[in-house]
Amino acid sequence: MLTAHKIALDPNDAQATHFARAAGTARFAYNWALAEWQRQYEACKADATLPKPSQIALRRQLNRVKADQFPWMLEVTKNAPQMAIIQLGTAFKNFFAGRAKYPKFRKKGLHDRFSLTNDQFGVDGSRIRIPVLGWVRMRETLRFEGKIMSATVSRVADRWFVSITVDTPMDSPLPKAENQGVAGVDLGVSALATLSTGEKNSGPKALKVLLSRLQRLSRGLSRKVKGSGNRKKARARLARLHARIGNIRQDALHQLTTHLTRRFHTIGIEDLNVRGMMKNRHLARSVSDMGLFEFRRQLDYKAAQRGGVVVVAGRWFPSSKICSCCGNKLETLPLSVREWTCLECGTIHDRDVNAAINLKNLAVSSTVSACREEGSGGALYGNVKPASVKQESSTKLPMISFG
Ligand SMILES: [Zn+2]
Repeated sequence: MLTAHKIALDPNDAQATHFARAAGTARFAYNWALAEWQRQYEACKADATLPKPSQIALRRQLNRVKADQFPWMLEVTKNAPQMAIIQLGTAFKNFFAGRAKYPKFRKKGLHDRFSLTNDQFGVDGSRIRIPVLGWVRMRETLRFEGKIMSATVSRVADRWFVSITVDTPMDSPLPKAENQGVAGVDLGVSALATLSTGEKNSGPKALKVLLSRLQRLSRGLSRKVKGSGNRKKARARLARLHARIGNIRQDALHQLTTHLTRRFHTIGIEDLNVRGMMKNRHLARSVSDMGLFEFRRQLDYKAAQRGGVVVVAGRWFPSSKICSCCGNKLETLPLSVREWTCLECGTIHDRDVNAAINLKNLAVSSTVSACREEGSGGALYGNVKPASVKQESSTKLPMISFG
């Protein structure tokens, strides 16, 4: 199973300059290849005998011309331009499959990164060897054991990080969950997560404060004169704040997913149609704030490490609209309604707790049917995930009980 670990780097000035140059080369190659792709695509539309653009052909083409046309490219690892074009190929693949938008040109300051294949770099304790450059210090050691697959060096605000992807072996399970119980988890708008036990986790408090500061700063930025020194300073401050918020959020998600997988064997969650939800203006903010993709990813691998199971409800499973007591289904339930009374059985529901209980019930019924009809069950509701992989240490998360 592939797991990535992102580690802060401690480059000296010369190394940071080299990173910036390699990232610039990668960006240039990506943008060059995207422009070529578009030109060749138009050309082959006009003349069907011409080949369609592909990342492989574009990489060969760049290799043929780079010594003449872009000799400065040779100053950094050949991985930088090559991997960038491979990534463009993936971006097009995702676009053709309907999973992503049409690839955009990379911008300086926004997409400062370059990638390395595993034959081009090495990790030794808390340092990493970058081709052409040499050893660079890392702030921590690599957390996962296994075959190292690739690395991406990137700039976030004014700091450099390396994300190392490791193929972790399947034979190092962690202790099983404390009780072999089942829980449903509703991710949401008013709380970070609501459990079927009635517990609510509102997410880190610091986040709220930082988010309002973020709002203030970005408003301030738009008032500053373009190109002025003050605007530059404000932009750097804003980028640092973004990075800090990202770290806090990531940390909160790690705590939550560790807590859940430690406590429960089977965990039911929604399959959030994130792309659809982003179109809903009210939901967009909270969804992007909380990183639902990331939540799902962490929960999957952490449950797998303990031999647990994540049951994902189908996209159209109406977790909010079913009464978890009597099964009565509402036609509609606007997002603004946080509490409702079932007209059939009279139960008063907290919207999120009710949804979590429905997800729990679904998890129970789908895992039961998975046992009964081997191989076929579970598919009905979503994927029942199998096991593996090592995991990071973590702290217990205080849960605020609902009442
Ligand atoms: Zn009811």
